[in-house]
Amino acid sequence: MKKLNKLVVAFGAAILFAVGMVGGAQAYSIDNTFKLGNNEGSSLPTTNNHIILHDVGTESTARENASYLKRAWLSTESYVQYYVGDGGKVYSGGAEGYQAWGAGAVANAGSPVQIELAHTWDANQFAKDYAAYVNLARNSALKYGIPLTLDGSGNGIKTHLWVTNNLWGNHSDPYGYLARFGVTKAKLAQDLKTGLPEDGSGSSVTTPVKPTEPAKPATSNIPAGFTPENGTFINGDTEIMDRVGGASVYNTRGEYLKPYGAWKYDSYKRIGNLVWIHQTFKGMQVYIPVRQGSVAWGTFR
Ligand SMILES: [Zn+2]
Repeated sequence: MKKLNKLVVAFGAAILFAVGMVGGAQAYSIDNTFKLGNNEGSSLPTTNNHIILHDVGTESTARENASYLKRAWLSTESYVQYYVGDGGKVYSGGAEGYQAWGAGAVANAGSPVQIELAHTWDANQFAKDYAAYVNLARNSALKYGIPLTLDGSGNGIKTHLWVTNNLWGNHSDPYGYLARFGVTKAKLAQDLKTGLPEDGSGSSVTTPVKPTEPAKPATSNIPAGFTPENGTFINGDTEIMDRVGGASVYNTRGEYLKPYGAWKYDSYKRIGNLVWIHQTFKGMQVYIPVRQGSVAWGTFR
């Protein structure tokens, strides 16, 4: 059986080679500097239903996200398998095939690979980041026998927005960030089918206009549009996770509140179906949703 084993190995290597290379361009390599150790992250294996696509939600690099969540995966209860960015680099986080904490319990349990795309305002860099992101998602789907369909029914590649609409949560990434460079859902769906050359030459992105910083309120930490009210929210029996913000609120850090945890706030605002409370933590503006429709997820005092 030795010969047969060799053949199988050679065949497998040829497939990996074929899916890793598109149009002869250099395939991404994976940096394991910040990979979670064997004793870190969830030990629960996943089923092979979905590949989930995210963006990091803040103006931060792939390296920053990977290194931060190597340190803080437990305290923030968030990490994924891969962080892509910084000119087409790929950093690994949690182990493939084991649950990440990226999109809620059901999605996490069915997704062997979840991928975060880091941010940039540079179109040339984005073209490389986007190509690596697409190819990594595509290769992961092929590897786990998951269809290359985007946000369809059944198994396939899904955005976090699809998870929100079909399973759980309130995040809408990564479409908002992709739109910065003119990448539509239709383009993403097409690119996932074919893959892209990783020098960025096939990404055909548009150059964004960087917005000017909004003026900060001079006398108060309370964000514009929020109603001042000092209080403490005591969570109910279910954790609240908000890693990259939701609705139109964007956190500068991940936010997680454990069951029965307390959270001091100075103001609140209803955005869509959710009521968000706000606090300033070590100079950062932090938000967490506490009420959905008319249902409070805990008590206030
Ligand atoms: Zn997400």
